[in-house]
Amino acid sequence: MTSSATKRVLLAAPRGYCAGVDRAVVAVEQALEHYGAPVYVRKEIVHNKYVVSTLAKRGAIFVDDTDEVPAGARVVFSAHGVSPAVHQAAEERELKTIDATCPLVTKVHKEAVRFAKDDYDILLIGHEGHEEVEGTYGEAPEHIQVVNSPDDVDKVVVRDPDKVVWISQTTLSVDETMETVRRLRELFPSLQDPPSDDICYATQNRQVAVKKLAPECDLVIVVGSANSSNSVRLVEVALEAGARSSYRVDGIGELKDEWFEGVSTVGVTSGASVPEILVEELITALGERGYGEVQEVRTATEDLMFSLPRELRADLKKAGQGPSRPRREGRRSLNVEPV
Ligand code: SF4
Repeated sequence: MTSSATKRVLLAAPRGYCAGVDRAVVAVEQALEHYGAPVYVRKEIVHNKYVVSTLAKRGAIFVDDTDEVPAGARVVFSAHGVSPAVHQAAEERELKTIDATCPLVTKVHKEAVRFAKDDYDILLIGHEGHEEVEGTYGEAPEHIQVVNSPDDVDKVVVRDPDKVVWISQTTLSVDETMETVRRLRELFPSLQDPPSDDICYATQNRQVAVKKLAPECDLVIVVGSANSSNSVRLVEVALEAGARSSYRVDGIGELKDEWFEGVSTVGVTSGASVPEILVEELITALGERGYGEVQEVRTATEDLMFSLPRELRADLKKAGQGPSRPRREGRRSLNVEPV
């Protein structure tokens, strides 16, 4: 049994909310405040159970697709982005849309459109079925093939091996993606890189931080939902970096006693869609288990902030309410400060 004197927590920083999630969540909050409930949201605004259920209690109605939104009503598109077909379907139903697609996802969409226009074969590295991948794919389905993992590379067939480019989902494991690219390049030596990193700053920063603390940890707990790609990647990255064990939890209700047997050092981090209140609860629960000493392991400082979606900003401005909002530090509870 480990004595409490040797028990400690290493807390990763950065962790939790990224700029794209903050913007999307605030967009729904402000839409509810400005237009009143209900506000429809296509898909989960961000992949986090707590965030979705909190917003639902306040009047957001989450739907799977635009055909579930009453004609003429207002709908918010999630941070993961949508394909042009979704925009068109919304237009046909005369929906009032607020597009909360993260600007860093939009950047990847634009890359896809540009390379398709130049008639490239585009290899989109990402997880088939993930909303972000569906949205990007939908920009140029006749030019894009989805490559799920390094093992998928052999299935790729292109028209001209000298005119191939790869792009990616924003929330992948950096190391696994680079392995996929390495294998693709073996097949297609002229494979072109995207103009800039598609795996976003937040995904990369959270992986770097967890890599730094993982070798010292007997256990790494990642707060995040099962459908949150970047949260699931953090568990994989922790294990690859040397953590003895690692688990993802939505909240403290999922902690298991057996995880803590013989454990001295617990690493803690959270995915980019996770409000800090869930990490705070975990730190308290760990304290109750004797892990009272908490040391932060910081590998970067983030200060990026995106302005609210254009449509919402315009309406807030007309009403004399906006469009500015104070920056909320990336690690925060849901709606704990005025926005
Ligand atoms: S994880 Fe990255 S791409 Fe996704 S919302 Fe956050 S900043 Fe945007």
